[in-house]
Amino acid sequence: MTPGRVAAAGAPEEIIGARALDGLEVEEVSREGVLRLTPWEALDTNIVCGITTAARGDFGVAASSPARVAEAYGTLARGLGFGRVSVPTQVHGTAIHEVPRRPGVEGGVPVVERAGRVDGQVTGARECLLAATAADCVPIALWSRATGRIGLVHAGWRGAAAGILVRALAGLWRTGGGAPGELRVHFGPAICGGCYEVDRPVLAAFGFPGGRGRLDLRGLLAGQALAAGVDRASISSSRHCSACGTIPLHSHRASGGKAGRMAAFLGRRRD
Ligand SMILES: [Zn+2]
Repeated sequence: MTPGRVAAAGAPEEIIGARALDGLEVEEVSREGVLRLTPWEALDTNIVCGITTAARGDFGVAASSPARVAEAYGTLARGLGFGRVSVPTQVHGTAIHEVPRRPGVEGGVPVVERAGRVDGQVTGARECLLAATAADCVPIALWSRATGRIGLVHAGWRGAAAGILVRALAGLWRTGGGAPGELRVHFGPAICGGCYEVDRPVLAAFGFPGGRGRLDLRGLLAGQALAAGVDRASISSSRHCSACGTIPLHSHRASGGKAGRMAAFLGRRRD
């Protein structure tokens, strides 16, 4: 069920933010338990961007041992051709971690770095995979083709309402040059507006009145990106809902809080 179809069917209840996604949905290709953002990867063959599906298991960080996190993310990075991966412990905040450049890692076991308690990472480093986890929250990939800098953000309602996307966009262009108009933004698989009924505190966080409503987080975030100066043509969104989609994804809400986590990833290989 997509927000557009809900509206077309004449559902009486408006989904806040859903219209902002009209025309932005792109196709991701599913293979080997991973959805790949093929439109970006076609623009630059050194870009590697996607997200694991539930078929690849649980990439949760907070409840996992450091050894299990290292094993899961090291395996993911190696399979994608990266010798280094940066993994955050997400806290629904707005802090952005700048991942430093390091000397290249040749072969062997991938280095799994912990980014600390942050919900967003940006970097100009090559051959370093950025990771973020999600299970209904929105994974957001950011890419400046002009400067080569990339970012990966986890945004649930708290982070979205508190402005983590705008902070990450600023983190990309402030330290690396470039301009909002040339940044690309992609919203990955997340809970759709039809599945995301929320109550008063969540509505109030975004400045909406009322006691209950349905929010499309990706649509609200798309509106934030546009307001920050990103071109509409540079914004895209996954078609997939983590809760009601046709491919196996982890959904916190649909599972009653028992879900694992998907791992979103974004990196740039060396030319
Ligand atoms: Zn849904």
